Amino acid sequence: MIVMKFGGSSLATSDALTRVAGLIADRAARAPVVVVSAMGRTTDGLVAAVDLAAHGGLADARRRVAAIRDDLLAAAAPVLADVAGLERLVDAHCDELDRTLAEIAAADGWSRPRLTDAALSHGERISSLVMARLLGQRGLDAVHVDACDVLVTDNRFTEDPAFGPTNARIDRLVRPHAAAGRVAVMGGFIARTVDGHRSTLGRGGSDFSASIIGAGIGADEIQIWTDVDGVMTADPSVVPDARPLPRISFAEASELAYFGGRVLHPRTVLPAVERDIPVRVLNSRKPEVEGTLIVAACPPSGLVVKSIVYKEGITVVDVRSTRMLMAHGFLAAIFEVFDRLETAVDVVSTSEVAVSLTIDRTDRLADLVGELRRIAEVEHTGGQAIVCLVGEAIRDTPGVAATAFTALRAINVRMVSQGSARTNFSLVIDERDVPDAVRALHAAFFETPVEPAGA
Ligand code: ASP
Ligand code: MG
Repeated sequence: MIVMKFGGSSLATSDALTRVAGLIADRAARAPVVVVSAMGRTTDGLVAAVDLAAHGGLADARRRVAAIRDDLLAAAAPVLADVAGLERLVDAHCDELDRTLAEIAAADGWSRPRLTDAALSHGERISSLVMARLLGQRGLDAVHVDACDVLVTDNRFTEDPAFGPTNARIDRLVRPHAAAGRVAVMGGFIARTVDGHRSTLGRGGSDFSASIIGAGIGADEIQIWTDVDGVMTADPSVVPDARPLPRISFAEASELAYFGGRVLHPRTVLPAVERDIPVRVLNSRKPEVEGTLIVAACPPSGLVVKSIVYKEGITVVDVRSTRMLMAHGFLAAIFEVFDRLETAVDVVSTSEVAVSLTIDRTDRLADLVGELRRIAEVEHTGGQAIVCLVGEAIRDTPGVAATAFTALRAINVRMVSQGSARTNFSLVIDERDVPDAVRALHAAFFETPVEPAGA
């Protein structure tokens, strides 16, 4: 049994849909469970529609839905024999969507998370039905399984799956199909709360779905089909010389995941790691390319730094207190505020009188600053970026920091941190410096790679 997950860009056009159906048919003997994202940019369109509806633009929101409908039909109608059936299917979803948007327009804030998730769920519900029909048409024994009946989330719309009930449902609703040689086709991203409302695993959550399902059925491999050649040494749109990595470890992948929205979702690999299931990142346009295999532990590859990644839109919060910083309990008091306001902290650095923290969500920033000001002086700066070198050999290799700082000599580095697992080395810089910094680091580490200690 394998899981094959396809992202939106692998499903955006008629050609892409046909290509994907062919990839699945070629692997039918491996009993694939297929997990699909919404087609193309459907989810972005749905997010925009929800936003319009929530801000007094219901008519514009409906126009947006009409545009999504046109895009879906333009891609799917040429490849499906039963076009009238397809139109009925898409129209039924668009009608439901219109009703949900009207409810959003009329709703108080509290019910919006529920209604938003309900609206966003249509993208994957449609794409999975389209793919199941397309595979059936090719003569495959394909069945559609509503992922909302399988994945269970908590009641708070926080994107956390409840693994116990989810695994029980995977056993009951998914595994029997694969065991009988049927291709189960499911939407990624979508779920249902324990109370029975449609919910989601958060943007980009289809990879997570694939990983949860793969872990649940004990798959031999989880294949994440994308539009890139694998996990790259750097973002190829910034570094033209970037190249795919044949193999990375789970630890490295988890570090990369936080930054690499382009390839893997942050939480994606965890359920797979726990079951020791290999995850392979592949290119649906170039299936002959080997892709990147993510494994529990990988042999030394000669590269100390495997990949250079970055994340923009970072805010640095500086907390300063001459009296109290090193008094015990002070850091706890600071973190308690972040915890209470449900704001995750990524990079932390401390000095005798100050602690700096980075956050990527600023929706509670004003509250955060207000609360922290009760205990210390606080400043914050937006428009920052984290640039991160990832590689397990970093921990045993002297000179990585020296090489990095030499490469970045013309760039102002604001914070530095080496994670506790020491598989990463992170630098916080101004967003505007990202392209120069990433190119300089790539040149320093990949054009003359630093050898691991003892190699
Ligand atoms: N369609 C969802 C999104 O765009 C989930 C996914 O593609 O992974 O966020
Ligand atoms: Mg995606």
